[in-house]
Amino acid sequence: MSKFANHNFAGQKALIRVDFNVPLDKQTQAITDDTRIKAALPTIKKILADGGSVILMSHLGRPKEGPEEKSSLKHLIKHLGELLGTGVEFADDCIGQQAVDKAAALQPGQVLLLENLRFYKQEEKGDEGFAEKLSKLGDVYVNDAFGTAHRAHASTAVIAKFFPGDKKMFGLLMEGEVSSAEKVLHGSEKPFTAIIGGAKVSDKILIIENLLERATDIIIGGGMAYTFFKAQGGKIGSSLCEDDRLETAKEILKKADEKGVCIHLPGDSIIADKFAADAETSSALSNTIPDGWMGLDIGMMACETFAKVIKKSKTILWNGPMGVFEMDKFQHGTKCIATAVAEATQDGAFSLVGGGDSVAAVNQFGYTDKVSYVSTGGGAMLEYFEGKVLPGIAAINE
Ligand code: AMP
Repeated sequence: MSKFANHNFAGQKALIRVDFNVPLDKQTQAITDDTRIKAALPTIKKILADGGSVILMSHLGRPKEGPEEKSSLKHLIKHLGELLGTGVEFADDCIGQQAVDKAAALQPGQVLLLENLRFYKQEEKGDEGFAEKLSKLGDVYVNDAFGTAHRAHASTAVIAKFFPGDKKMFGLLMEGEVSSAEKVLHGSEKPFTAIIGGAKVSDKILIIENLLERATDIIIGGGMAYTFFKAQGGKIGSSLCEDDRLETAKEILKKADEKGVCIHLPGDSIIADKFAADAETSSALSNTIPDGWMGLDIGMMACETFAKVIKKSKTILWNGPMGVFEMDKFQHGTKCIATAVAEATQDGAFSLVGGGDSVAAVNQFGYTDKVSYVSTGGGAMLEYFEGKVLPGIAAINE
């Protein structure tokens, strides 16, 4: 059993760093998507069920100069209370006297929400004094905010040093994220296929380089594939291309060859005469795209080849769509890949989908429950797979 599940919170005040950075309606400040709040509920509920109390701290939005109405966490009180089925106390400052008094008065089963951490510049600066003040509010520190685990902020990392080893831990959401990511990166059963898509090579170089050390196969799709075709002397029409990354693309292909990692590029593409939902479309080999046309999705042949590779895999990591899946005409490739990943998962593979747009695609196509794990932490997940040490994880583990 996990450290969190094993811990009995009876009579303790748990200070939980959650990621309640939810989108709010600009006019009414109503929550437009509560996924992040719902994701933290199991952690909160376990603590309350044990007979503990909960102090929730989070950031919201990007406040620049101190407190501002539109980024106040008070907009979340009502909905959070409804989801938890209990009243929620609110402190209109995260470290002031009111927060101290309200935290001290908390009784078992009660919940206190603190005002936005980023109303203080010290939060993002990782200020020790600020972190220490926060730490005084609770007996146990629980980090359940994987989305900010790659930041060395006061509440996500620095604060952990003010708690002894048995009084700091990941919450259930963070435990799920960390153990799934570790399983893929360090305990992957082979063949291990990484599917990397999206717009830009430059955003994904580090992740590809790290995966060259671990994966058996790397599938490269999306706009970034065309830089690879051009680097090999192909004609790509007006497809997306980063001319300053042609050498990088060549190096990646060379390294893969040396290491015996199979790189799969989409042999054919769905091409369009403009970047628009109502564009004229056709298909072409990805290295002979006519002038004036651009590749906006992988083609039929590529779908088949990629699906075969995916279906023989035991571990799958997917980051980034295969095409402009937001437009109907160019979503077929991403859908095919989602189907293949779901089928491989059903046959026993472990599949992890991470990164904003692939998660959106999997949700859009209704495959969320058909893959092993969908990560909520876009940037954090990417940095983890780049091989970086995430401060939020290190702070708990050290
Ligand atoms: P990223 O955030 O780098 O994962 O990129 C995701 C974006 O890449 C999505 O909005 C897609 O529409 C876009 N994309 C995928 N394939 C292509 C393509 N062939 N050409 C242009 N944009 C693409």
